[in-house]
Amino acid sequence: MRTLLIAGNWKLNPTTAEAASALAEGVKHGLGAATDVHVAVAPPFVFLSQVDRVLEGSPVGLSGQDLYWENAGAFTGEISGPMLVDVGCTHVILGHSERRHGQGETSAQVNAKLKAALAAKLIPIVCIGETKDERLAEKTEAVLLDQLQGSLADLSPEEMAGVVLAYEPVWAIGTGLTASPEQAQSAHAFIRGWLSRTFGEATAGRVVVQYGGSVKPDNAVELLGLPDVDGALVGGASLKAADFLAIIKAGQEVAARGKS
Ligand code: PEP
Repeated sequence: MRTLLIAGNWKLNPTTAEAASALAEGVKHGLGAATDVHVAVAPPFVFLSQVDRVLEGSPVGLSGQDLYWENAGAFTGEISGPMLVDVGCTHVILGHSERRHGQGETSAQVNAKLKAALAAKLIPIVCIGETKDERLAEKTEAVLLDQLQGSLADLSPEEMAGVVLAYEPVWAIGTGLTASPEQAQSAHAFIRGWLSRTFGEATAGRVVVQYGGSVKPDNAVELLGLPDVDGALVGGASLKAADFLAIIKAGQEVAARGKS
């Protein structure tokens, strides 16, 4: 079984450094030294250094929420892979739907960012997912295929094995709507099948594919227990340490009992 990765995407929260430290402290203490599931948090850029200090000695990974494909230069407002590494990051989220749909980010741009992340030795979490209209028009698999082909272009199987994917149906993000277990497993199986055809079965078997979209303590065990779901990318529920820890606990339960 692949080791589950539970990652908290804090987005544009919280508003103060003090609150960011308190949240990181809560996660650190609640998790302790447990490493049966992998855990990471993604605070806003400005709090990364300080959250890194709070997390010292803990297995909780630190993630950026984005990066730019150039390492340095005249790119106002951007943050590079080496900068994220310098402040302690282990992971970086790429192609989140709030960037694809909110900022017009393309799969070609996500691909350039992915290559920069791999060059910087960060673990990329590449998000893909369909909108409500696309699902209603039965275009889910076509959209996933397009995003997979564009975002993961030109990767070797070895590189692919080090990439985390997050299937996040856009209609389920921050809405309280969650994909049903059947919808989630079907999308994840489609993604795994494409990985297998493109990179080989061995590589496909190694890639961690998270589910994201209104994961909460009360639906986490069911979602994380699905055969092709290897973790969760959590937005809203990662802003309360108790809720995020409950989702981690659900992952630990699934890890302890195994999957069929
Ligand atoms: C996300 O932002 O990646 C996300 C899944 O958010 P939420 O859990 O709030 O739906």
